[in-house]
Amino acid sequence: MFNLVKGTHDVILEEAEKYSYIEQILQNTAQIFNYKEFRTPIIEHSELFARSVGDSSDIVRKEMYTFEDKGGRNITLRPEVTAGIVRSMVNAKLFALQDYPVKAYYTGPCFRYERPQQGRYRQFNQFGVECIGITSPHRDAEVISMGYDSLIFLGFKDVTLKINTLGDDESRENYKKALKEYFGKHLENMCSDCKERYELNVLRILDCKVPEDQEIVKNAPKISDFLSENAKNSFETIKRDLDFLGIPYEVDESLVRGLDYYSGVVFEFHYVSSKGKSYGAIGAGGHYGKLVAEVGGPEVEGCGYAFGIERLASVMNDDNLFEDLSDNVDIYLMPLGERANAASLGIANYLRVSGYRCEICLENKGMSQMFKKAERRNALYAIIIGDNELENDEYVIKNLASQEQFKVSSDDLLKTFDELLNFEGKKETECCEGDCCCGDDSKCDSDNDHEENCDENKSCCCKNK
Ligand code: AMP
Repeated sequence: MFNLVKGTHDVILEEAEKYSYIEQILQNTAQIFNYKEFRTPIIEHSELFARSVGDSSDIVRKEMYTFEDKGGRNITLRPEVTAGIVRSMVNAKLFALQDYPVKAYYTGPCFRYERPQQGRYRQFNQFGVECIGITSPHRDAEVISMGYDSLIFLGFKDVTLKINTLGDDESRENYKKALKEYFGKHLENMCSDCKERYELNVLRILDCKVPEDQEIVKNAPKISDFLSENAKNSFETIKRDLDFLGIPYEVDESLVRGLDYYSGVVFEFHYVSSKGKSYGAIGAGGHYGKLVAEVGGPEVEGCGYAFGIERLASVMNDDNLFEDLSDNVDIYLMPLGERANAASLGIANYLRVSGYRCEICLENKGMSQMFKKAERRNALYAIIIGDNELENDEYVIKNLASQEQFKVSSDDLLKTFDELLNFEGKKETECCEGDCCCGDDSKCDSDNDHEENCDENKSCCCKNK
């Protein structure tokens, strides 16, 4: 037996399906905003992260998985994906070839040597987007709105969006000076991390989680008092856009983010599950002014965010947001004998290409064992196929919930399941409002209250209104 490496976790079975479901919805959202998929390597030259994420960041200083490869190269497992995406755009000369902005989405694992705790792993998965090449606060607002919409599509309600601005270079330099002066007076009583941050990047002190230090941070100068006209206008425009879009937000002046490349607007999405659990930010991002040039590209600006799939899955589990996700087998095929085994392969494929999730019991088991297996798979229906059935070209179908059983000819098999299973699928859909799926609109009452009028044997969704 080998144990997991500390801070890692297996994502298997239903959990893996949940991850795929989340990623699918995040991808669909990015696609309707016309973002294109990028897949970049997990390993990059360490220098890339030192340049982009920043030498003074906790990530580069303490958390990177770095090693020398057999060719003597200094390599790092990516702690985040933005730097690699930007590098790929620069290498592919997308800024020369393409119309701006270049819009990318990505998904995949990241690695940080952090202290493992709830919602914090050493290998975790991010889904993120980057929109690069134009300078417009409206672009930043659109990126934030895409993150917000993604959460709505995932079924979240009451998401807290925190935003702040780190201003432009001029604002930030003036602000840092003021912070140095202020924290210089309190440094003696602050934690050792803060003492380091004071030297490396004083802004990061605002992020300190030590309660005593937070008291000192509360009275620190505020960035809003140091913003240049330009920086102020940009931030105001973003807030106005969010108001216009009806996206609620809180301005949190202590929000600074841990990656050095951010400038301008920064933001985080938070959510407390109904169990009262919070796993930290479920997603975060911001504007970056210099990153592309740092990585060897032109002086263009970008904005992006990343969601943590682990954290999304945890809160969605707590709040049952995976309701739509069913791992039921639609149809479990039970062949009895050699001839039926072969026939069931064909029948299952016929049903699978029509979209039904089918599994065949190919182990020559007895009926009662096959029913147990069907039950363990939460199968909705079973098809029993024996020599008699093959002889007569008809199969026995059993509804495993009601235990009802009936025979269907092979010609009617698909039609029967279309009726049986689409009916199930439509349960949650809206009433057909007169366009009755039983195929006989004339029986439907216009005010939708036509349950009695529907033929009992037909699968009218109005019955499930
Ligand atoms: P960051 O790249 O630090 O801006 O983080 C973006 C998102 O990735 C966060 O909001 C989290 O959801 C997720 N994330 C960051 N670090 C971790 C970690 N160590 N474990 C799990 N998720 C993480």
